[in-house]
Amino acid sequence: MNYAKKSVKDVDVAGKKVLLRCDFNVPTKDGVITSDKRIVAALPTIKYLLDNGAAVIACSHMGKPIATYDAYVKKQTEKGTDPAKITEEAWKGETKNNPDLAKALASMAELYVSDAFGTVHRAHASTAGVADYLPAVCGFLIEKEIGIMGKALADPERPFVAILGGAKVSDKLNVISNLLEKVDTLIIGGGMAYTFLAAKGYGVGTSLLDSEKLDYCKEMMAKAEEKGVKLLLPIDTVVAKNFPDPIDGPIDVETVSSSEIPDDMMGLDIGEKTRELFAEAAKSAKTVVWNGPMGVFENPTLAKGTIAVAQALADSEAITIVGGGDSAAACEQLGFADKITHISTGGGASLEFLEGKELPGVAALLDK
Ligand code: AMP
Repeated sequence: MNYAKKSVKDVDVAGKKVLLRCDFNVPTKDGVITSDKRIVAALPTIKYLLDNGAAVIACSHMGKPIATYDAYVKKQTEKGTDPAKITEEAWKGETKNNPDLAKALASMAELYVSDAFGTVHRAHASTAGVADYLPAVCGFLIEKEIGIMGKALADPERPFVAILGGAKVSDKLNVISNLLEKVDTLIIGGGMAYTFLAAKGYGVGTSLLDSEKLDYCKEMMAKAEEKGVKLLLPIDTVVAKNFPDPIDGPIDVETVSSSEIPDDMMGLDIGEKTRELFAEAAKSAKTVVWNGPMGVFENPTLAKGTIAVAQALADSEAITIVGGGDSAAACEQLGFADKITHISTGGGASLEFLEGKELPGVAALLDK
């Protein structure tokens, strides 16, 4: 996929009506915005367009489009509309990338600017379809996302280390496989690691296990060997008798070697030796990509692995890229955000980027 896309700076915006697709999908509580980060992040593009003589029409989704669909269905059902007709009509909109909707959006403007990275993995009317009817370029947020991540994947400064965590192997199958084509070292922590440890023949007690993915993990370990990629798994593990309940409640833990997890215990975080091993790998890299927590980081006792990785990235001289809501939030909460080269604003989109998938909302933009 070509990541060299035209931006607002590559086209003449003066005197033009610009349809700007933003991500204003802000968290709210009782109708009050609890974080305006996404709105603030859109300001540089809005300001640039206004300063250069454009008239800006900013649009965004808010909540899931499906919620709007449900509301539509409910209303039409109450009105007694034929159910077959409701379904036919309801899906003709945004999420179905309906050309009539895309055309209607495009008719308002002379230029389309996309700056909602969090939605570029979706082929919706306002993220991709509209570009069929207007010249389409990116704003500064997307330019940064695809510039940094595109370079990291296409032409990384080496050693290139990727750190993956999170709950399940099955959520990251394509990410693991694609990254093995690109990195020098692949680090796997979090709940995902236990399926790999089990595939190595270790007992993993009652830890999270994707038993259907054991063969896949074996394949990936063989692929790593064949490609000369170093695959690092936890060498020690923080275990407990049960999953914490409540998730942030007090918990008794001990640390054991990853090859000696007792049958009645579950692994909930990486141990101290693993923290050092992973941090060392991150510090000696030139490019590091991190996605997913190393343990049940919602619990302070089990957050140490995730904190250690965030700290290692903050301390590293490398180009550091963090994607995914949990890892991004961890960096921000720890106050490390300004020590990381790039924290992606799109969890799902950055994961699909790492999978090597074409992102429809990026593909639709004009090439440089
Ligand atoms: P994901 O949504 O795949 O990024 O996974 C994030 C979730 O994985 C977090 O809620 C963590 O609590 C959970 N997680 C991480 N490590 C483990 C583990 N060892 N056992 C169970 N859950 C875990």
